[in-house]
Amino acid sequence: MSLCIGVDVGGTNLRVGVVDGLEVIDELRFAADFSTICRTHAADEAWQQILAVTAEALDKVLQRHPDVTSIGIGFPGFIDPQRGTVAQSPNLPGLRDADLAGGLARLLLRPVVVENDALAAAYGEYKLHADDISDLVYLGLGTGVGGGLIVNHQPFAGQNGYAMEAGHIIVEPDGRLCGCGNRGCMEQYASASGVSLSYQSLTGKQLDAASIAQAAAQGESDAMRAFELAAVSLAQALAHILKVVDVRTVVIGGGMSHAWPLMQSAFMQRLDHDLIPVLRDRIDVSVSTSGDHAGIIGAALLSAR
Ligand SMILES: [Zn+2]
Repeated sequence: MSLCIGVDVGGTNLRVGVVDGLEVIDELRFAADFSTICRTHAADEAWQQILAVTAEALDKVLQRHPDVTSIGIGFPGFIDPQRGTVAQSPNLPGLRDADLAGGLARLLLRPVVVENDALAAAYGEYKLHADDISDLVYLGLGTGVGGGLIVNHQPFAGQNGYAMEAGHIIVEPDGRLCGCGNRGCMEQYASASGVSLSYQSLTGKQLDAASIAQAAAQGESDAMRAFELAAVSLAQALAHILKVVDVRTVVIGGGMSHAWPLMQSAFMQRLDHDLIPVLRDRIDVSVSTSGDHAGIIGAALLSAR
């Protein structure tokens, strides 16, 4: 099989992996703070810089692996399904209808595909799954909560690229204000920043989710409570999703999934409670075992289709 590159665009860096089959055979990380670029430059200039930084990183990887045949990019934003452009990115205001794939393809002389980062991770999880499955729901718990849906072996982006905006399912009417403009969205409770907010409202103390996880593992009750709240919110939203899409296989990924042991019991209890009874024993929820590689592998394989 030919080599492909998969890119995971993070908050402050690009992770670039060279993928052979289902394996990442080389991985490099490049500093790339796109949100600072967007904050400090006019839209056009910011876009040119984002393109240049990405092209430069990819060029370095292509020098090591000149036989790479295609490049896939998982981008945190809404991707226009018809044109493949970045229609909008909540963390990168000013970026509108940016043709990242076209711009990179012209510079790097290879086919380039851009897909929403959570959908790329969903596709990676689907390809990596031990069972022979056709459908999968993916929820990625990070700074926010992303979602991806695979239907009949294909990524499902929706007609506008907004399918599976799971983090914005409202689980707490009139709850915490969300970046999307609504209140009580699931990601305000189930993301890393949501856990920090819960802990702060319980204790008045500001800690990051990793430190709260440590405290919870040592039995601190407020820290445990913050993760239980995350688990319950996630289960509420997932029950809604499963009632709509009727998919059996669910994979939980993202940085916060490392804290799954703190969430699992409250999560399963709430999911069982909220699901239609006949579905209760038919849902297979697992935590990603890809070691953060699903996004890279999924993006790479999407470019090779
Ligand atoms: Zn929201």
